[in-house]
Amino acid sequence: MDIVSCSNNHQPDKMREQEGVIKYRLDHRQQSFNPASPLTGLNAWRTVFFRLGLIGQCVDRYDNIGFGNISQRLEPGSHQFIVSGTQTGHIEQLKPEHYCLVVKAEPEKNRIQSLGLCKPSSESLTHACIYARSPAIQAVIHVHSPEIWRQTQALNLPHTPPDIPYGTVEMAIAVKQLFQSGNMRHASIFTMLGHEDGVVSFGNTPQSAAWELIKQLSLAIGIEQQSNNE
Ligand SMILES: [Zn+2]
Repeated sequence: MDIVSCSNNHQPDKMREQEGVIKYRLDHRQQSFNPASPLTGLNAWRTVFFRLGLIGQCVDRYDNIGFGNISQRLEPGSHQFIVSGTQTGHIEQLKPEHYCLVVKAEPEKNRIQSLGLCKPSSESLTHACIYARSPAIQAVIHVHSPEIWRQTQALNLPHTPPDIPYGTVEMAIAVKQLFQSGNMRHASIFTMLGHEDGVVSFGNTPQSAAWELIKQLSLAIGIEQQSNNE
């Protein structure tokens, strides 16, 4: 079943950013692990976002490189989290082996230790930065939504600066600064202006992170439909 829309307004020239390439130093152990809590809810939401074209892989988007990823804290109080694997964007329904455990993340040293049958998403450092901000955050979702991203200003969304690319130490610092600035006090979503279409949401459950994304998507679509009618 292919219901992911590949129609887009992207400018291919801007897509040389090499989405999906791991930029951090990875110490990965190729070994299966048993998550403490089931991934059912997380995985169901990932499939929803896949069907909406917010997570995926598509020939005319980002040079056919997978985009979007999802994670969940291993258990309350833990620094470890489970994240979808790199280059799994083309799979509608992930299996347990497509997830990976981030055992230790040091965003400012650009280092990750992980365990699993696949390697962690290239954007795991950003996930790690967000978990480090509050123990209440239990889930993080990164999607690519052209509408939310384009409407960052109109929706008054917090954002990281346009000169900061994904998966870098600079992004880790930018995310930390975003939280320290107080701009995230009433928000659980932000856009990455230096990462085309990049949006990140988080919450105390996968569901709350997902609902915020869906809400902002509907608002962004509303703004664009209204301006099309004017
Ligand atoms: Zn991305």
